[in-house]
Amino acid sequence: MTTVAPTTTDERIALAAAHGVGNYAPLPVVLAQGSGARVTDVEGRHYLDALAGYSALNFGHRHPVLVEAAHRQLDALTLTARAFHNDRLPEFQRDLAELTGTEAVLPMNTGAEAVESAIKVARAWGYRVRGVRPGAARIVVAGGNFHGRTTTVVSFSDDPSARADFGPFTPGFDRVPYGDAAALEAALTDDTVAVLIEPVQGEAGVIVPPPGYLAEVRRVTAERGVLLVLDEIQSGLARAGATLCGDLSGVRADLYTLGKALGGGIVPVSAVAGRRDVLGVLRPGEHGSTFGGNPLAAAVGSAVCGLLATGEYQAAARDLGGYLGERLRALPGLTAVRGVGLWFGVDVDEGIGSGREVCVELARRGVLAKETHGVTVRLSPPLVITRDELDVLVDTFAQVLGDLSRG
Ligand SMILES: *Cc1c(COP(=O)(O)O)cnc(C)c1O
Repeated sequence: MTTVAPTTTDERIALAAAHGVGNYAPLPVVLAQGSGARVTDVEGRHYLDALAGYSALNFGHRHPVLVEAAHRQLDALTLTARAFHNDRLPEFQRDLAELTGTEAVLPMNTGAEAVESAIKVARAWGYRVRGVRPGAARIVVAGGNFHGRTTTVVSFSDDPSARADFGPFTPGFDRVPYGDAAALEAALTDDTVAVLIEPVQGEAGVIVPPPGYLAEVRRVTAERGVLLVLDEIQSGLARAGATLCGDLSGVRADLYTLGKALGGGIVPVSAVAGRRDVLGVLRPGEHGSTFGGNPLAAAVGSAVCGLLATGEYQAAARDLGGYLGERLRALPGLTAVRGVGLWFGVDVDEGIGSGREVCVELARRGVLAKETHGVTVRLSPPLVITRDELDVLVDTFAQVLGDLSRG
């Protein structure tokens, strides 16, 4: 073991290359500190965080209320496994159920695990309640979806880089174009147990479906006795301007998958929340997780619910999002600005540069964002960002687009 600690950005990146694995291509920035919407790298340079951990940092870095809840729990009890009750989990389940208007909460850790859990619950419900033939259950999903990285979840992705060389894949999924309720309805069969969709597709580039789409999906699923599972892992918990993005369309799902911001940027916390009669199909020993529902996660999760119960972050997302959208739409060099709440996908004119090139230049000028798919840059700053900071973000974006277009 070397005793010399790396100090510079280049040394840290070299160390990452030496012992890390190449499943990410991070921007050449090495972060060491964060507070609110701001982060600092190992060389003391400051940045505005315009990504917020893909919405895992909705409350910013180290929100004092969340850090305090975590510290308090660290001094009491951190893990029991579910072999015993712990005193924090029931409160967390109550808080999340109250916040989301659901009846029951199944705690897990990561988003992909929540999605896997929802798939298992929907299938078991299909066999045990709906009477679907053994082994025949099918789930309808949308093109362009992103629901995580496990082998079953990538089985129904249509992103080649998420799937290539990772098969064989889990059967039982039917994919239809996103935003087309008629195509979705046509894909429902007597064996369909659930429809699993994102109310707005984040990873695909913040794709907002046409008005009326979600309500129509809700109508046909209810009519056919099919569960609607909304994956709100990225769209939920205030990002879109409401506690649940589906609520903006007046749509209530049977099951919701939640994650990312549920852990307050401190620990991984995810959950499936929804109808008791659906989640209630699980029997002891059928599903679980060593870490799911641990007291530290539950304490942080409850604190997150407490912040969201004020409605202040949902309002901030609407207000700041309205402002950011207005400013982005006035920028030359963008061919599309899509968004809801404080959550935007902007497409850079191909003649100017790739999303990656824009993000590298933004980082050099102190703004951290991440490209998705070619020309799209995703902007999802922490909901604690100020209007002045949004001005810095947009002004920097404008400078980068200007400089790149001048070559
Ligand atoms: C991030 C994300 C996931 C996966 O969450 P992980 O915690 O990375 O496993 C699933 N669904 C959606 C919509 C997401 O944005």
